[in-house]
Amino acid sequence: MEFEPVIGLEVHAQLKTETKIFCACPTTFGNAPNANTCPVCTGMPGVLPVLNKKAVTFAIKAGLATHCTIAQESRFDRKNYFYPDLPKGYQISQYAAPIAEHGHLDIETKDTGKKNIGITRIHMEEDAGKLIHDPVRGKSLVDLNRTGVPLIEIVSEPDMHTPEEAGAYLRKLHAILKYIDVCDGNMEQGSFRCDANISLRPRGQTEFGIRTELKNLNSFRHVEKAIQYEIERQAYVLEQGNAVIQETRLWDPDKNRTVSMRGKEQAHDYRYFPDPDLVPLIVDKKWIQQVSDQMPELPDEKRARFMSQYQLSGYDARVLTSDIHLADFFEAAMISLSNAKQAANWVTSTLLGLLNARGLDITQSPVPAKNFAALMKLLESNTITAAVAKTVFEEMAQTGNDPFVIVRQKGLEQVSDSTELESLVESILTQNPDEVAAFRNGKTKLFSFFMGQVMKKTRGKADPKTVTPILQSKLNSEK
Ligand code: ADP
Ligand code: MG
Ligand code: ZN
Repeated sequence: MEFEPVIGLEVHAQLKTETKIFCACPTTFGNAPNANTCPVCTGMPGVLPVLNKKAVTFAIKAGLATHCTIAQESRFDRKNYFYPDLPKGYQISQYAAPIAEHGHLDIETKDTGKKNIGITRIHMEEDAGKLIHDPVRGKSLVDLNRTGVPLIEIVSEPDMHTPEEAGAYLRKLHAILKYIDVCDGNMEQGSFRCDANISLRPRGQTEFGIRTELKNLNSFRHVEKAIQYEIERQAYVLEQGNAVIQETRLWDPDKNRTVSMRGKEQAHDYRYFPDPDLVPLIVDKKWIQQVSDQMPELPDEKRARFMSQYQLSGYDARVLTSDIHLADFFEAAMISLSNAKQAANWVTSTLLGLLNARGLDITQSPVPAKNFAALMKLLESNTITAAVAKTVFEEMAQTGNDPFVIVRQKGLEQVSDSTELESLVESILTQNPDEVAAFRNGKTKLFSFFMGQVMKKTRGKADPKTVTPILQSKLNSEK
């Protein structure tokens, strides 16, 4: 039987506020354990939560950027469960009345093309603390720095059907949150984390199958691999005539498989009820309008603009706008450039290649936009050849030096003086009489051999556009 996978994603994104959601403690990552705590976020009796207005503004911004309707009245509930990293014994979370609902996000994949993925809801909540298991002392310690850090949870409709679509949705959502500057998107530090729900159903059937939920997915690659594994695992279970068990599973990136964490019978009963310490959250039209007025250009708009303003291909424009900082880098360089296609090629292949190899993101680029633009300028003015530009780029990446300095110090200016190049070509022909004879006897493939010799002699500095006609006329002259 052929099965159709059904995938819905839940994303927790940490909001980039300076302070926590219900107290004034800092949200700084990496401080000494429990340094960022106070009686409110450690759940002391008698304290009262005070809602962080900026967190609400950020949640509204995320809602608007994903085409949601913003609720003018929403509410905070208590989600009750017992765990040592949750000192109050409950997490404050929006449940029955979330701040944003009914949105969508547009994705594009190679296999299925353009698609619209529904966003069920976005709600605000506080994060829990962290347990640190110390195997040496055989003890578990608790760090409450993260307790009360503001999160939004973005819940998608079960609208995705392939791991690739899930990956595209996540990358798009990640890009949008960074564009609107409400989340730093750091997946390793857990600022952007995803749970994936997956079920299979016989193709053609409208009813959903039984799903499992995957946790511990802290990179886009892991999400895609874990979903693929889970699709295959569930297909095997169903083909054997067995039923999929509704459960939470963990992705094990070392063993490349999912393992059962807890089943439905162990599922929590959270006994949600409205938090009596917090009044309903009222967001008036004016507030929503203010946030909307400050909305920056979003990835799809920027991509369309890049295509029209710089005449770039859809592919180049998408790569360049996939990250706000990459788009900014490109535009900063373009201020002084005229050949956008050339700059785009260098960014998407050479620069991104370097960053990938070194595991850096664009904000950590060893080549700043200013120097990158200067290198492109040397190419645009034909001061250096493309081959030399590669060498200069590598040197810039190593030393951080200005390309003008490198070119001048190493004497790498392009040679396009035809008299100089003519005498060079003549000496090369004299030195290679056999090849010349072979060429003149019809072995025209040897043209690239001669071009190679010219490049070798000039260390890549000869302008191919000047060399080609000289070579052609000299090789074909004494037939
Ligand atoms: P829970 O509260 O248990 O997390 P929800 O109903 O809120 O459950 O759904 C959570 C996520 O699971 C949503 O992203 C939703 O799209 C997805 N989902 C729900 N049912 C299915 C299913 N049968 N197959 C795949 N995904 C599903
Ligand atoms: Mg869930
Ligand atoms: Zn606090």
